Amino acid sequence: MDFKKHAMISLAALALSATAAFAQGKGPVVGVSWSNFQEERWKTDEAAIKAAVEKAGGTYVSADAQSSPAKQLTDIESLISRGAKALIILAQDADAVRPAVEKAVAEGIPVVGYDRLIEIPQAFYLTFDNVEVGRLQAREVFKVKPEGNYVFIKGSGSDPNANFLFQGAMEVLKPAIDSGKIKNVGEAYTDGWLPANAQRNMEQFLTKNNNKVDAVVAANDGTAGGAIAALAAQGLAGSVPVSGQDADKAALNRVALGTQTVSVFKDARELGRTAAEIAVQLAGGKKLNEIQGAKSWNLGPKKQNMTALFLTPVAITKDNLNVVVDAGWVTKDVVCQGVKPGSVKVCN
Ligand code: BGC
Repeated sequence: MDFKKHAMISLAALALSATAAFAQGKGPVVGVSWSNFQEERWKTDEAAIKAAVEKAGGTYVSADAQSSPAKQLTDIESLISRGAKALIILAQDADAVRPAVEKAVAEGIPVVGYDRLIEIPQAFYLTFDNVEVGRLQAREVFKVKPEGNYVFIKGSGSDPNANFLFQGAMEVLKPAIDSGKIKNVGEAYTDGWLPANAQRNMEQFLTKNNNKVDAVVAANDGTAGGAIAALAAQGLAGSVPVSGQDADKAALNRVALGTQTVSVFKDARELGRTAAEIAVQLAGGKKLNEIQGAKSWNLGPKKQNMTALFLTPVAITKDNLNVVVDAGWVTKDVVCQGVKPGSVKVCN
């Protein structure tokens, strides 16, 4: 064997063993399929997942479906071919993603449905309690407006969270709706969770009701922003309570300024870390029901028996903005920007 050929072979062997060592290391390759990074929170989720995977000696690989359900299918395939031994999936479309998830679990690659339900029993379901998020949103809006015309700016129809949130809101408001104190004067999904779509829906509801809208239950901070823009154009921002969720920085500032009534804090750092830890354990051979804190749950639309873990959300109003500041989620100067001195406790 000539020297050159020999050198090439040993180089190739070296490269192979390096790849193997890298891939096997102490921890697994964890593949994360993102739907998009439209909302501020997902970058926080991502940083938390990456840090926890690496802390376990594993390797983080990822793909961004950029809001395309079709791209998400090929993304998942490619994460598997890049060596993923467990997958964390934030589904863009709960139905469209199913074939890729079914294929992964059939190949023995565990899947964590992240934040949004993928209703396949072989997949783990990790999320904040979304029905509770909906209750918190409605409860805070209801405290401000216990009667009147309500508008519901719901989430994306292809995200099961949209209906969980609405379900929670309805639990809280049902007695007042039944008694006629509250009237549902407009209800619409927001395609793609896009703030611009939320704004357009809100404009139409305002027009249809001659601006007689007393309260808005909006599904997240992005859609709340859209709804508030529509209200502002009619001089109604600040006088009509609006909900949201995610503790987006801009939304927390609106809460302090008084144009948004409530956001819901779901610590994405905790969700991300937990997902990574679960993925690593599943890759190591743990069964779904061996995950600490996991419980059986079958309240999804398909009534499948899922193994799930729910984290607890916290309502944030102008009275407890200190919670997000104390948690190191956001700084006071961001929350309090432009706030009139003396009007909000945390800003004093
Ligand atoms: C998440 C929210 C998020 C929304 C849009 C939902 O599934 O639970 O936190 O704002 O998707 O990304």
